[in-house]
Amino acid sequence: MKLSALTAYLESLAPLNYQEDYDNSGLIVGNPEQEVSQALISLDCTEAVVDEAIATGCQVIISHHPIVFKGIKKFNGKTYVERVVEKAIRKGIAIYAIHTNLDSIMTGVNARICETLGLKNSRILLPKHNLIKKLVTYVPLNHADTVRDALFAAGAGNIGNYSEVSFNAEGTGTFKGNDAATPYVGEIGKRHKEDEIRIETVYPANLESKILMALILAHPYEEVAYDLYNLTNQHQQVGSGMIGELEMPLNEESFLFHVKDKMRTHVIRHTKLLGKHVKKVAVCGGSGGFLLKHAIAAGADVFITADYKYHEFFDAEGKIVIADIGHFESEQFTQQLLYEIIRKKFPIFAVRLTEVNTNPVKYFI
Ligand SMILES: [Zn+2]
Repeated sequence: MKLSALTAYLESLAPLNYQEDYDNSGLIVGNPEQEVSQALISLDCTEAVVDEAIATGCQVIISHHPIVFKGIKKFNGKTYVERVVEKAIRKGIAIYAIHTNLDSIMTGVNARICETLGLKNSRILLPKHNLIKKLVTYVPLNHADTVRDALFAAGAGNIGNYSEVSFNAEGTGTFKGNDAATPYVGEIGKRHKEDEIRIETVYPANLESKILMALILAHPYEEVAYDLYNLTNQHQQVGSGMIGELEMPLNEESFLFHVKDKMRTHVIRHTKLLGKHVKKVAVCGGSGGFLLKHAIAAGADVFITADYKYHEFFDAEGKIVIADIGHFESEQFTQQLLYEIIRKKFPIFAVRLTEVNTNPVKYFI
């Protein structure tokens, strides 16, 4: 299939506008039109992973971490980033990154950590703003159902566990067409009054062009009147980190054993244990330190994440146990997650997991 078919599907699950400002998710190397028959999945796109893709006949690498975060000014092979990009281009290997956009969804990296730890009732710890927009349009009465159906089918009208959400108010529209107009009702050059319904609904910002297309195709008027509003509401199902509960509270030592076992980590760096039972657990794969205050505010007993620095551990302030399980370890199930996502949608497309352990951190035990 075309590479664009694969990436469009991934972006329908984890849209690119869900990524953080510093991130660089998306197609980093490659032509969307190129044909692909096999993908290689990895957490990091290192030179060894590019070599593995070449050796195994994969035309695309899907990696969690983007190989390129910032601008590259020279391509002379001095750094591993330049060498990876250069080799991938020379050998026709595409590189696609699905990073903080995959972290942000309800079925992403953090959801997989919650599942692995057996947490129930998992929800987003810090929901994102500015991802939802509002559409208002004015439709003649006899076309209201058709237009609503089209908008809902295109992805509008979803709030939490509810779909087909809209507000509808009847009123009167007026219009007068000029000589060049071909109005659906009324006469040219005369003001026409029409009974209309004002339909209001919400939609994910990333679906805007699809929704406007659906509106214009379903609406009978030559000129479709509509208003688009930016909303600052939170998107409850998109954001950073997750929080959930253990079915049975555990004492802190037993819980850390549980984490060590399930997350297959050699060592956990943690703050002082508080002698309490652990029930509520906040998680964030990778560097999640920025979420600490949200984990505390949400009443988490333990915050599981990675990349903590010495001074940052003090911020626990006896209110929570910070448990740093290692960056690679916290995200190791992401490869399997991507594998399952792609296999489910494209059952006959070949997907392989990298055999390279890309963790740059080694433990001397
Ligand atoms: Zn990461």
